[in-house]
Amino acid sequence: MPIVVQKYGGSSLAAAEMIRAVARRIAASASGGVQVVAVVSAMGDTTDELIDLAHEVSDKPAPRELDLLLSSGEIVSCTLMAMALRSIGTDAIALTGLQAGIRTDTLYGRARIHSIDAQRIRTELSAGKVVVVAGFQGITDELDVTTLGRGGSDTSAVALAAALDARRCEVYTDVEGIYTADPRIVPDARKLEEITYHEMLELAAYGAKMHPRSIELASVYGVPVYVASTFGDKPGTLIHGDSGSFPNRAPVFRSSGDLINGEAEMAEKNPENMENRVKVTGVAHDRNVSRITLRGVPDRPGVAAALFEPLSNVGISVDTIVQNTGANKATDLSFTVARGDLQEALERVRSVADSVGAAEVLSDDSLSKISIVGVGMLDAPGYASRMFRALAEARINIEMITTSEIRITCIVAEAQVEEAVVALHSAFGLDAV
Ligand code: ASP
Ligand code: MG
Repeated sequence: MPIVVQKYGGSSLAAAEMIRAVARRIAASASGGVQVVAVVSAMGDTTDELIDLAHEVSDKPAPRELDLLLSSGEIVSCTLMAMALRSIGTDAIALTGLQAGIRTDTLYGRARIHSIDAQRIRTELSAGKVVVVAGFQGITDELDVTTLGRGGSDTSAVALAAALDARRCEVYTDVEGIYTADPRIVPDARKLEEITYHEMLELAAYGAKMHPRSIELASVYGVPVYVASTFGDKPGTLIHGDSGSFPNRAPVFRSSGDLINGEAEMAEKNPENMENRVKVTGVAHDRNVSRITLRGVPDRPGVAAALFEPLSNVGISVDTIVQNTGANKATDLSFTVARGDLQEALERVRSVADSVGAAEVLSDDSLSKISIVGVGMLDAPGYASRMFRALAEARINIEMITTSEIRITCIVAEAQVEEAVVALHSAFGLDAV
């Protein structure tokens, strides 16, 4: 029988009655011809409360004890869930991260899974049980308990799906899926039927927030991830591998069954669709942007290295970088950093600017980033110009531009970022059904 991993977030498990409701959902899946491994998060705000408690007894809680403490939240959930399942006649067993064979490195608070010995889980599944695993945790080789970082249960679930060669990982949460833009800004934002791993990572998606490492892992192991609401049966969003040029296809997923292996079939039936694909999947924005500009930087080898090395040494990551063609042996250079890093970055940059003889250093912390994201976008001409035209028509000035294979990003004034999101969402037909 195929295995399905289902992950339930803390907001879906906030009270006993909610745990019972989720148990009924799990039981229904388990009676539908699949073996179910359920991964659960801590109930409601338990993790936050435990962190607060730790800080009430200590200024600096020891990372080892903090992880052991936090892991208890998920243990509460998995044990209660197994009890709830048994109470409605579905045989179940709760396993901690240790019992589930999840081995990690030793970085408390942000441990990475290095392997999973899934033997125990397989044995329990073969005995006809639903296996309920505590998310967010693992153990080191020394049997110390670690946690994977906030939101890490998603990563536990995808890792288990990969280790068990599960048909898919289903993530149930308090929103219905992934959206084409932030629904608070674009009321017409649409729930996506599907999105690729890469798009999901670049979008830093709106709607369901997934632990980014879970998407990376899903992408590496090719685990399809289906994100939907715990409450109700509305279709959610399927996150999957690159769909290449198979466009606008019918839903590739049916909640009751298999991934439909119909890609090739669809393309054959609708050859005219192949080049017609709406290549922009969504519009993303980020307000956490500030810019540093150096004017009159001497145009000679080594200057950029001298500038960026001190920043990387202190762990400041630099984003969008733009350097002009030099005129009169001098050039201008701009780049962005997160706002929280601006002051420190400015200090470092000013001292380098002095030593290389740059004319002046300027900064601006009232900017935002806006991106259109879509697989296959850049091998089709016209997307960039359409983006720039839409921003121009909305009278939004573009301060900087960068691109990746599946993303075009503009830096604009923060005051205009919402207008920009709305303009681009409609320019790329994302609010059309
Ligand atoms: N309970 C943990 C947290 O709140 C892990 C999770 O929910 O995925 O961060
Ligand atoms: Mg949580």
